[in-house]
Amino acid sequence: MEKRYLFTPGPTPVPPKVLAALAEPVLHHRGPDFREVLARCLGRLAQICRTEREVLLFTASGTGLMESAIANLLSPGDRVLVVSAGYFGERWADLARAYGADVDVLAYSWGEAPVAADVEERLDGHTVVLLTHSETSTGVVADVQALAAVAKDAGAVVAVDAVSSLGAVPLETDAWGIDVVVSGSQKALMTPPGLAFVAVSDDAWGRRGSSPRFYFDWERTRAAQRKLDAVFTPATSLVVALDVALSMLLEAGLEAAFERHLRLGRACRAGVKAMGLELFSPDDDSAAVVTAIRAPDGIDSGALVLTLRDRFGITLAPGQGPLKGKVFRIGHIGWFDVFDITTALAGVELAVAEAGGDIERGVAVTAALDAFEQPLTVA
Ligand code: PMP
Repeated sequence: MEKRYLFTPGPTPVPPKVLAALAEPVLHHRGPDFREVLARCLGRLAQICRTEREVLLFTASGTGLMESAIANLLSPGDRVLVVSAGYFGERWADLARAYGADVDVLAYSWGEAPVAADVEERLDGHTVVLLTHSETSTGVVADVQALAAVAKDAGAVVAVDAVSSLGAVPLETDAWGIDVVVSGSQKALMTPPGLAFVAVSDDAWGRRGSSPRFYFDWERTRAAQRKLDAVFTPATSLVVALDVALSMLLEAGLEAAFERHLRLGRACRAGVKAMGLELFSPDDDSAAVVTAIRAPDGIDSGALVLTLRDRFGITLAPGQGPLKGKVFRIGHIGWFDVFDITTALAGVELAVAEAGGDIERGVAVTAALDAFEQPLTVA
């Protein structure tokens, strides 16, 4: 018998009320009871995306809807600019290449934050610009408002991967002029993996390309959704659960969620630094989604993550790509409170000490609790 703690940047813990909804009898996707849930859920998704447009909901993981953006926006040979500063930026580039696009990558080192002026300088007739809002591999949250603005000025269609950011940090789809926003159920939206969605601007609708597509054809799903119908059998139980999770989020207010994530980030960073570990993710309030931490010299971060899992039932995320073995990540997305942070920190403290790391014991939890309580703005 072991209690398990899920502190990864996706999937994330799911509230009991949402889990209970998953246990309800399965609904038929063409029945009136499901249509009612679907209509409500689509409306709530639009509110979360802060858009007046229809949001298209698919049974897929986040990557599926990233692929939908490529398949719907591009024609083979189109010039695409990918702004990449980590694992998920590289995924955009891989997807676009798979569809035969002419892919230009504005590549930053992992952990850097993309700069709008660099994008502006690089843009030269690209039809589409692909951005990552929260780069989950590094903990960097990019200023997509500024990045999107320069891309729009240059006449490009802008698509944003908001898989780990939507509902955690502010993202104004319409107000920031973002054409395509892609996200999924399993992060800040407090629902198990399996659903993903996309908000599409009128401009993007008018500029769709000729790449082959079927399941992920936006038009097919839009036509069905307008009749509250489904062309394919959706994961109905997940839609029911997502609807409950979204109602919880919206009832508390998105601003409250943003503030909570900001405080959780502060708490996590304060605890990490108090015990003497070094941050990899930025040491400021932008890092409200994921905290990436360098493993002390001589300690492999992957081994640390395995110790935490196998000894204490605590699941954190290891480093990806060039950060493998070097960093580990604590996600604080969605159904998280400060005691999740203190539990994660206490586990890290034990595991690092056991591995022979030179850290200070017994201070991280207090530092985290204090940082969580600090007023947001200094008078
Ligand atoms: N983009 C980002 C920023 C992510 O964090 C993730 C999931 N970790 C994805 C894309 C891919 O989503 P999925 O695993 O649901 O396909």
